[in-house]
Amino acid sequence: MSESASPALASNAAIEDAAVLFRSAKRAVVLTGAGISTPSGIPDFRSEGSGLWSRDEPMEVASLTMFRTAPERFFHWFRPLAGQMFYAQPNAAHRALAEFEASGNLKTIITQNIDMLHQKAGSQNVIETHGTLRTLSCTDCFRKFDSALFLKSFIEDEKIPLCPYCNAILKPDVILFGEQLPQAAWHEAQRAVRQCDVILVAGSSLEVLPVAGLPMQALDHGAHLIIINNTPTYANVRADIVIMDDVSSVLPEIMKRALHG
Ligand SMILES: [Zn+2]
Repeated sequence: MSESASPALASNAAIEDAAVLFRSAKRAVVLTGAGISTPSGIPDFRSEGSGLWSRDEPMEVASLTMFRTAPERFFHWFRPLAGQMFYAQPNAAHRALAEFEASGNLKTIITQNIDMLHQKAGSQNVIETHGTLRTLSCTDCFRKFDSALFLKSFIEDEKIPLCPYCNAILKPDVILFGEQLPQAAWHEAQRAVRQCDVILVAGSSLEVLPVAGLPMQALDHGAHLIIINNTPTYANVRADIVIMDDVSSVLPEIMKRALHG
């Protein structure tokens, strides 16, 4: 590319290169983070300046310790976020991934998000490494419930979800600070990246371990790495293609060209 090329043209070339990689991929994996859901109105609660951070310190209030010692404080913090997720709709990037998955060459979506938007868009094979808001579990009898039964009254009337069998508090199946990752999901994610031929990181700054290490595992097994994120990540130096742009505009374009040439 000549020195006079504009950033838009550079980005266009990178989009084309990414589409070519995806078109020939047999076992592609996409790893998504908060950046894919911000265009759907869901704040990245780990990011400074996102409202939720300034009011409370998530590391403290969204921790397992807080949930156990002062669940009402946890639920009070969680309620606006749960409301945004419950009512949020998938955007063009979620829909493009679902469409590409249906074509057969995208094997797995690994997401750090708990917002259910990949599933709402129609994706089938989604590994949720940080848990999910789709289900709640009883802290006493460990029964699992579909969160749809409880979320509306929690969001609208601030009713803390209680187990219909034993009346203990129900914990959303999201991974809180200080809590272990769900082991089955984590093993499945590692298996997927070790077998993939292309891994695309979409909207993750790759700052939260151990998920942030997955692209390196893919590279060690010979996969190509594509990164689309607004800010640089530690893995950019190892990536085949880096696009520093908005996921919801870039990803649909890549998927469209990969599918239709
Ligand atoms: Zn129970």
